[in-house]
Amino acid sequence: MLGLMQDWPLLIHKIIDHAALYYSEREVVTRSPEGPIEHTNYGEIAVRAHKVAAALDKRGIKLGDRIGTLAWNTSRHVESWYGIAGIGAVYHTLNPRLFPEQIAWIVNHAEDRALFFDITFAELVAKLAPHLKTVEFYVALTDRAHLPKADIPNLIAYEDFIADMPGDFAWKEFDEHTACGLCYTSGTTGDPKGVLYSHRSNTLHAMMVCSGDALGLSGRDTMLPVVPMFHANSWGIAFAAPMVGAKLVLPGPRLDGASLCELFSGEQVTMTAAVPTVWLSALHYLEETGKTLPYMKRVMVGGAACPRSMIEAFEGKYGVEVIHGWGMTEMSPMGTLCTLKAKHLDLPPEKKLDYKAKQGRPLFGVEMKIVDAENRELPRDGRTMGKLKVRGPAVAKSYFKGDGAGAFDAEGWFDTGDVATLDADGYMTITDRAKDVIKSGGEWISSIDIENLAVGHPAVAEAAVIGVRHPKWDERPLLIVVLKPGQTISKKDMLDHLAGKIATWWMPDEVVFVDAIPHSATGKIQKTALRERFAELHLPGAAG
Ligand code: AMP
Repeated sequence: MLGLMQDWPLLIHKIIDHAALYYSEREVVTRSPEGPIEHTNYGEIAVRAHKVAAALDKRGIKLGDRIGTLAWNTSRHVESWYGIAGIGAVYHTLNPRLFPEQIAWIVNHAEDRALFFDITFAELVAKLAPHLKTVEFYVALTDRAHLPKADIPNLIAYEDFIADMPGDFAWKEFDEHTACGLCYTSGTTGDPKGVLYSHRSNTLHAMMVCSGDALGLSGRDTMLPVVPMFHANSWGIAFAAPMVGAKLVLPGPRLDGASLCELFSGEQVTMTAAVPTVWLSALHYLEETGKTLPYMKRVMVGGAACPRSMIEAFEGKYGVEVIHGWGMTEMSPMGTLCTLKAKHLDLPPEKKLDYKAKQGRPLFGVEMKIVDAENRELPRDGRTMGKLKVRGPAVAKSYFKGDGAGAFDAEGWFDTGDVATLDADGYMTITDRAKDVIKSGGEWISSIDIENLAVGHPAVAEAAVIGVRHPKWDERPLLIVVLKPGQTISKKDMLDHLAGKIATWWMPDEVVFVDAIPHSATGKIQKTALRERFAELHLPGAAG
């Protein structure tokens, strides 16, 4: 017998309509690519989203067509997402930090029919345009006065594009499983692969993100997502904030410590989210200037492991709670968030920190298990490392155009490519990317554990650990360190700092000090580049 409840399709434009009805006056603030800080609200954003939908419809954009966006976090970008999706087309975010050839490859693979871009990227777009085979017109997310002079065909300013369009244009009708967003993975191995979100998955994901033990986002919050809309769906925040009527502050192109801290104070931001590298520079800025975070309550850190020392700095020095999280583009992207259980509340601070440094517990809607090389499930004992697999309503079931089918198994589990431990309470700890795991004498060494400890040294700005070939042990860990400006320490100081905190056989065989560690387009340490650079390194004590 079926239940007798209504079918109410989960469509993302219902989120912006809801916000327009109930939080119309709630502010959305943008540091615009043109320079000034601009103020609008959900009411105006909804009207302009309807205009975008009307303008695209007029140009013949249809259900399922892809529209590329090469843009920062701005109100125009948010409007575009809702407008594109509201006619059943698909917003396709492009990461400007990729090489131009990669961007062109992705646009052509996705067959984008139009490209919306920020004026910051005008030169890049002019360079790309001759190679973009399917793009029919270009919309610069600006007004006529700022329209770039670059040589871009069929170019129109966004404000002209939507100017005469009806602000009450009717959304198209379609099923909740209809595609609405497309985001390609960073493609560190092989070609990038497209993750195609549906209206249903994005809506459910936004509800998951808002829930209490997730971000606990509410209408009283002011949220500043540093994480770009072109990185993994901006962690769902562009849907979650209007869903609950949180004030939204969008940092545009300026993501340096000074610019962010100016917005944190000026707009009284209570919550924010970014990858650890952004927080490294923001914390450095706070330390140097003696500034504080007077309004901030919670900071979400994810996308790469959050070192324990970063949690200590936020909580100890600035009184800001850190929520460590883990996810993937393929998971819309949130998988786990780290909050304490009731039974942990009376633990001593150090023990609480042990938990907070973990990647966290799965949100409702994320199933998780670890398996061995034969796909047998491994124990949830907090010690055994295994390949992490996930499934759920906001997890990809295949990639766009059927690429990368090997990542999905017959039971519907997606292989994350991460290696992790799970404990009986559900806390998950990432020990490595499977391809970065260091295999020493048949056992695995977690590079992330050593990196997190290394950055706990007061002189260390950043650290990376990679496996280097060893004649006897197969691989041994090499610790690569970037020191804070003006600091000097020796290899012995570094190793002394680690001693007693990790098993002796995990101790790095060598420590090298470098000026900088390379990062990928999504802020992750580029271990492939480091492995190439140190491939010939001769480890002390290694014969041959
Ligand atoms: P992306 O799809 O670009 O967000 O990358 C997802 C990958 O980033 C995951 O599979 C992990 O390898 C890594 N990642 C994300 N969050 C964390 C975290 N908190 N700790 C360690 N690795 C993370």
